[in-house]
Amino acid sequence: VNDGSPDVARYRSRSLWLDEYPGSLDPRPSLGGDLDCDIAIIGAGFTGLWTAYYLKREAPDARIVVLEKEIAGFGPSGRNGGWVQGGMAGTPSAYGLRNDPDGLARANAAADSSVDEIGAVVEREGIDCDFSKAGALAIATSEPQRQRLLAEVGSGQSLLSPSETEGYVKVPGVRSSYFSPTAARVDPARLVRGLADSCERSGVSIFERTDAIEVAPGSVRCPSGAVRAETVIRATEAFTTQAKAHSRQFLPLYSLMIATEPVPDSTWNEIGWRNGLLISDHHHLFFYAQRTRDGRLAIGGRGSPYRLRTPIDDRNERNSSVMSRLQEAVAKAFPLLAEAEVTHHWGGPLAVPRDWSMSIEFDPATGTGWAGGYTGHGVAASNLSGRTMTDLVLRRETELTAMPWVGHRVRNWEPEPLRFLASRAIVALLERADNHEDRNGRKAEYVRLIRPFLAGK
Ligand SMILES: Cc1cc2nc3c(=O)[nH]c(=O)nc-3n(C[C@H](O)[C@H](O)[C@H](O)COP(=O)(O)OP(=O)(O)OC[C@H]3O[C@@H](n4cnc5c(N)ncnc54)[C@H](O)[C@@H]3O)c2cc1C
Repeated sequence: VNDGSPDVARYRSRSLWLDEYPGSLDPRPSLGGDLDCDIAIIGAGFTGLWTAYYLKREAPDARIVVLEKEIAGFGPSGRNGGWVQGGMAGTPSAYGLRNDPDGLARANAAADSSVDEIGAVVEREGIDCDFSKAGALAIATSEPQRQRLLAEVGSGQSLLSPSETEGYVKVPGVRSSYFSPTAARVDPARLVRGLADSCERSGVSIFERTDAIEVAPGSVRCPSGAVRAETVIRATEAFTTQAKAHSRQFLPLYSLMIATEPVPDSTWNEIGWRNGLLISDHHHLFFYAQRTRDGRLAIGGRGSPYRLRTPIDDRNERNSSVMSRLQEAVAKAFPLLAEAEVTHHWGGPLAVPRDWSMSIEFDPATGTGWAGGYTGHGVAASNLSGRTMTDLVLRRETELTAMPWVGHRVRNWEPEPLRFLASRAIVALLERADNHEDRNGRKAEYVRLIRPFLAGK
């Protein structure tokens, strides 16, 4: 593809998916002056675009404007692992559902509904993004991992034995696994860019390379003009912390990925990895992987060190030790792929709230709202946000607006350098615990030390 803008190389280098994106990444026009509209949405990632998409369907006459600092899908929406995964983006205890089995079942059902809903939109809008609902397999390769997996899936569920696991994929030393059918593989850049095109076709205006520098009820100030709108929605996820007023709202934790060159089908057949199946493991610093449309392995994990002064920075998107850890994980779990050349390495910031659980907020009095804090779960959860925000903006009381993440208030992270120290300690201890468990096959008890900073603990 012959893109004209000098910035396009910078966009393409952001991920395998953006690099391989078959269409143009030339930015759409920027905001050219002052503008009046009904609804202004900041951020053209999944959250902003799903919100625009559903609002336009439900209120076709509404004048909806999306303001994006770079291009649609520039953020993690165009860089992620492509896991469209059911389940809540957060923990039952954070939402007060620990002793409420009915509420928990309703919340899980609402969260799960996004997987098929995304599939339905992809079909309806003709978005060619390799959506394939073949499920996800979580594998455990040590006893502590098996126990964590069991605790996670709940007592009513049974794990697969090593021989049953072989029906999905062959992983040396696997002890058990869990198959969840509520998951689909996708090429995230094609999905987010396709969604932007659908929004535009339906009459949403998207301005790219347009930085929202001041967001207030009724107006958004950008370098080249102001947008006045009755409703203003912020959908800027981890980037939200770049604004001083929100700097402690999330811990911007980087997740990084690598992708191999395309591997022949014969190798995939030998590994027995069904096309479309997503695979993760249960180390504390777990990996998540997909076999891509063109036969690559794309695999990611966390553990990139947090920088005190530049928590969000291009330099955080690559890290040699995370890359080595991912390559080691490949060599152990999928030895036949160990020699495949790594062609891409990239990453992006996750927005981790203090309780690791998402929120959708809308204040009808001021007409302002925001959604996010998905940690690493936003591909499906952002769709739920878009549908829920639509109901909130249109002042409808629905099953979605009654969900516990709506109006879910989370306290800020500790001030620096405590947030920095906490995040460094989390990564260092989890890495040590994984090494300990791999060596000894026994649970690393000292992970308890960082429990106050982890999800739902
Ligand atoms: C490497 C990696 C792998 C991941 N894997 C998965 C996965 O497999 N499954 C999953 O569910 N989740 C995954 N995630 C998380 C998932 O990608 C995010 O939760 C999701 O994309 C968040 O979407 P969003 O629209 O809320 O935010 P973003 O995609 O971050 O979009 C926000 C947008 O706002 C724009 N913006 C920021 N500031 C401004 C401003 N001032 N003015 C205008 N625009 C602004 C940004 O440029 C950006 O385009 C992964 C994340 C990473 C980094």
